[in-house]
Amino acid sequence: MTQTARFPTTLTRSPKPRQPDSALAFGKTFTDHMFLMDYEEGKGWHDPRIVPYGPLSMDPATTVLHYAQAVFDGLKAYRGADGTIRLFRAQRHAERLGKSCAGLCIPPIPADLVRQSFEAIVGVDHDWVPRTEGTSLYIRPTVIATDVMLGVHPSHSYTYFVICSPVGAYYKEGVKPVRILATDTHVRAVQGGLGESKAAANYAASLSAQQEAERQGFTQVLWLDGVERRWIDEVGTMNIMMKIGDEVVTPPLAGTILDGVTRNSILTLLRDWGHNVSERRVSIEEVMQAGREGKLTEMWGTGTAAVVSPVGELGYKGDRISIGNGGTGELTQKLYDSIIGIQYGRLPDAHGWMSTVPVPVEA
Ligand SMILES: *Cc1c(COP(=O)(O)O)cnc(C)c1O
Repeated sequence: MTQTARFPTTLTRSPKPRQPDSALAFGKTFTDHMFLMDYEEGKGWHDPRIVPYGPLSMDPATTVLHYAQAVFDGLKAYRGADGTIRLFRAQRHAERLGKSCAGLCIPPIPADLVRQSFEAIVGVDHDWVPRTEGTSLYIRPTVIATDVMLGVHPSHSYTYFVICSPVGAYYKEGVKPVRILATDTHVRAVQGGLGESKAAANYAASLSAQQEAERQGFTQVLWLDGVERRWIDEVGTMNIMMKIGDEVVTPPLAGTILDGVTRNSILTLLRDWGHNVSERRVSIEEVMQAGREGKLTEMWGTGTAAVVSPVGELGYKGDRISIGNGGTGELTQKLYDSIIGIQYGRLPDAHGWMSTVPVPVEA
């Protein structure tokens, strides 16, 4: 399982200048190399390789540019205090990329190969994994349809690439709550649609609601289901959880939301700790009511970028409630500290979530 594949590698002749860790933002600078692999019908996935980071050249009629047949994933490599570089749940991310592919008629890449591609690219660019507490190397695997044609049907050829970006600490001044707006005018996904896939198109579909939320002074959108417009789905590009009384509630994986790796990890920790956890439908009315009665004590989003993102205020149809006292709840903070502790190798990894990236020895 931890066997590392070797891929043909062409090293760059012009390494890029580095930024200090303190100047790192999210996804603005990229490492020196990238992982590439091609698919053709009849030939399957072939020619995995590592090459210098650079532009992909494409015919303007390439399928992905017109019909968004594209999926991606996102995970991070963390450098521990001992210098060891670790990936968080790489195999699960690799498996999810396969599921996302299936949702868009893209031939899935074997999960072991995807995981090996993460290890290989981080191994080659290991010196790019930043060293300051809270920083990490964000890994972005992506699959795009590369047939040159304007007919609408699944492409016969694809490109898989993995790029990496050194990112700064998400919370530079401590965990900070966000204000979210439940939208009753926009919909992210419906059952039978793309909601379960990490599809580029889902992000395009989210932009105008996000812009509207920001215009009204909120940070993110709380998505409701597309049919009755009352069941809570997700928040922005994160899964959502809340503490109502002594119950921790999160919407079930029922076809419209993404099976978040952070969501799964947090549910696992909560169950380990003996919390009362429910994956069940929860309506916006129930949450607003619980908020007014003082029973909604904590609410947080979960995702790779932030780990947890506490919600301090919730707006819906002109009403606003504040959650907790607008700060970070006790359980939210404990979850954050626990996951971060595991990721940086400070806390025991009871579930075997971390894998070490072997750093290639220069010949
Ligand atoms: C990526 C993503 C998440 C979070 O998933 P993680 O695996 O925890 O990073 C949640 N919702 C959506 C829509 C996403 O795209």
